Amino acid sequence: MKVTEYFEKAQGRCLASFEVLPPIKGGGIESIFKTLDPLMEFKPPFIDVTYHREEYVYKENKNGFYEKTSIRKRPGTVGICTAIMHRYGVESVPHLLCGGFTIEETEDVLIDLNFLGIKNILTLRGDARKFESRFVPTEGGHEYAIDLVKQVERMNNGIYLDANIENGQKTNFCIGVAGYPEKHFEAPNEEIDIQFTKDKIDAGGDYIVTQMFFDNKAFFKYRDKCRANGIKVPIVPGIKPLTKLYQLNSIPRFFFTNIPNELSKEMLKVKDSKKKVKEVGIEWCIQQCKELKEAGVPGIHFYTMGDSKTISKIAEAVF
Ligand code: FAD
Repeated sequence: MKVTEYFEKAQGRCLASFEVLPPIKGGGIESIFKTLDPLMEFKPPFIDVTYHREEYVYKENKNGFYEKTSIRKRPGTVGICTAIMHRYGVESVPHLLCGGFTIEETEDVLIDLNFLGIKNILTLRGDARKFESRFVPTEGGHEYAIDLVKQVERMNNGIYLDANIENGQKTNFCIGVAGYPEKHFEAPNEEIDIQFTKDKIDAGGDYIVTQMFFDNKAFFKYRDKCRANGIKVPIVPGIKPLTKLYQLNSIPRFFFTNIPNELSKEMLKVKDSKKKVKEVGIEWCIQQCKELKEAGVPGIHFYTMGDSKTISKIAEAVF
């Protein structure tokens, strides 16, 4: 079933969904199941699996020189999605990126996903690779997420890249897109960022999942602005608890989100105890989720980062 159909069927009941990362190459799928098994009691209608494009690394060759090579550290998104559907009988949502794919490769992946019975996709541009100062589109690939949305939408209408294909099978993908309550870091301002998000919806996007945030006021303001700009699709908050002190610095650096003063101060007050720091982060997250649920969000999407114990604790208190 489509993600949007689950929200419709829930009739205002808030749903919990989870996101997992493929294991680092060489690792087994058991780590995914270990994360998800305890979370199944919360009856997630869908599980997202992130996609990680290739990265440049420098390797020393036998002459002592360094060579730039490209490796993919976390492959397996499509395989994991299929395994999740088999094991739990829930929908899985692969993330699909512009970066790293030509449009032909994207079409082939979409055909595979369709044949596998995967009905939902989260369409994303992807970030710049390490050692690149900005996102550089793959040659023959898409520049922005909206271009990917349009490609999926064309296939949903039976239009393939090969113009000779007549009466091509229409796929029926439900298309998710990313949204940023605190603005995407490259966007010149909130208004333009929301306009670009609206363009993704107008091009075929069916729902929005947001970047993580720690201040609900930012989310509510964002949601209001989206609605005022004519975005009518479900907006699902993406949530991650803080569990370690260093995240006070690393999260703003990597995800461009602010950490409210009150939360920062509470964590710093107990900085000498890892246990207490974690307790503060979990309690903040529980209160955040309760307020979001109260405010009628269709679902809460948890970035698990492999920590099912913490996420279970939060979900138990909220759902
Ligand atoms: P876009 O919507 O293309 O926007 C990128 C930037 O371009 C924004 O600043 C936007 O305002 C601007 N823009 C959009 N359209 C135009 C235009 N026509 N002209 C000029 N500017 C424009 N990354 C991964 O690598 N793997 C993942 O699995 C993954 N999962 C994610 C899940 C969620 C829920 C979120 C929120 C992010 C995820 N990301 C992931 C990170 C994401 O790839 C980055 O945030 C990326 O920098 C932007 O992706 P986007 O799809 O929002 O891009």
